[in-house]
Amino acid sequence: MSQARFASCLPLPLEQKVLVNIIEKAKDWALMHGVGMRDKKHFNKDTIQIAPFVLLPSPFPRAEFTKAIELQPVLNELMHKVAHDDGFLESTLQNALQVDEFTANLYNIWITVRNEGISQSLSLGLFRSDYLMQNADRNAIKQVEFNTIASSFGAITSNLPAMSRYILRQLGHGDLIKNMPENRALSGLCSGITEAFDLFGVPTAVVLFVVEEVSYNICDQRFHEFYISETRPEIQIIRKTMNEIYEETELNDKKQLIIDNKPVAVVYYRSGYEPAQYPSSKEWDARLRVERSTAIKCPSIAYQLAGTKKVQQALAVPGVLEKFMGGGNATERVRDIFTGLYSLDFDENGERAVEMALEDAERFVLKPQREGGGNNLYGSDVREALIRMRHSRERAAYILMERILPPLVPGYVVRPGAAVPPPITDLVSELGIFGVIIGTKEKIFYNKQVGHMLRTKLADANEGGVAAGLGALDSPYLI
Ligand code: ADP
Ligand code: MG
Ligand code: MG
Repeated sequence: MSQARFASCLPLPLEQKVLVNIIEKAKDWALMHGVGMRDKKHFNKDTIQIAPFVLLPSPFPRAEFTKAIELQPVLNELMHKVAHDDGFLESTLQNALQVDEFTANLYNIWITVRNEGISQSLSLGLFRSDYLMQNADRNAIKQVEFNTIASSFGAITSNLPAMSRYILRQLGHGDLIKNMPENRALSGLCSGITEAFDLFGVPTAVVLFVVEEVSYNICDQRFHEFYISETRPEIQIIRKTMNEIYEETELNDKKQLIIDNKPVAVVYYRSGYEPAQYPSSKEWDARLRVERSTAIKCPSIAYQLAGTKKVQQALAVPGVLEKFMGGGNATERVRDIFTGLYSLDFDENGERAVEMALEDAERFVLKPQREGGGNNLYGSDVREALIRMRHSRERAAYILMERILPPLVPGYVVRPGAAVPPPITDLVSELGIFGVIIGTKEKIFYNKQVGHMLRTKLADANEGGVAAGLGALDSPYLI
């Protein structure tokens, strides 16, 4: 697997003394502007450490960046339509939910609230569409996945261009700043929340953030709270875990979700996307209660289901995009960002996909219906899993995806606690574009692209989640 290489924005290596000095400055800048996370090993609410970051912004082709930005409202609308097409979601998820309990639990909540009658027709999407460049295809962006729940790092990465500007100026290369796009993801995402709050129309209502038992990614979450508190001081934000929601909320006779005697206007999930966040039936009961309520959910259960890998795969089936988008130019542009996606359902198509993957497992990634990183299988693990599941319905819980091989970029990754200076390493970058949508099945009220994030990992690491400890925060340097 030989991948082409992009040049760094500055000639590397930097001189040792310069490097040590700039890393010290950059770390302080990061700490003092909230480019941070809580330490997983020595958790302590009194301290924040730097989030891993790439010292110099990584090159990214301008045309591909622009394409991703332009496509975001189109993708927002597509996913909104998908989430409101009951028949499509039902048939797409049918096989996976027979063998995947987590998806089945989400699905059952969706069915329950549909049967009871939906009490809030508006939903809020704070989405993030993720891309890797396919080096073998002129470095064209290919969609890795579409996140509909707890899309993170919009807040912290809004600070990163300023950090890169500081670093480049300190290195005497302020002239390069012109190639770095501004990032207003934080204000854009917060506007989604406040717009939804206004549409709810009850000035005394509150916004509820659903958070993990322990929030390592605290800066990213708090920046949203701080921004809203600054720009809309009358809006109170309450942070609660799923368990606390179970204990401390109730539905009144108007189906309002009540907390501290106040109705909840918007529920913003920063948790609730993985099985470990539902350790008992209480958390599932809490989720059902919220879903039954009049609160505007970010995401609604339907948005969450639309964000499954299974739906992503189903959208790549010939004719499906046309069904949702018609046959125009936008449809072609969306199809162009799809890479090979294959169902592993227990049928003929699935069988063909299994055979194809067994022939050359290195070409594929095996993905379950999970979020949050660290769940996919690569290389020899793909082969092993497929051999094991070949004659089992269990395989329908996964999709098979063509592996994207991005160009390499040399760079320095700065990590908390790591030796300074770090070595120059080969890196690859994943671009995420944030989108906001608010609407009902019939009408979309708000649909915008609001910003981006770049996350960069060692080229030989399979996954690069920053929260998972593998990736590093970055900014695009447009080439
Ligand atoms: P999650 O919802 O857990 O984030 P992703 O689909 O984003 O799942 O996969 C996690 C990571 O795995 C991605 O950020 C990327 O680094 C890597 N990855 C996923 N799909 C591919 C692919 N088709 N080719 C190469 N790497 C991939
Ligand atoms: Mg995801
Ligand atoms: Mg991902």
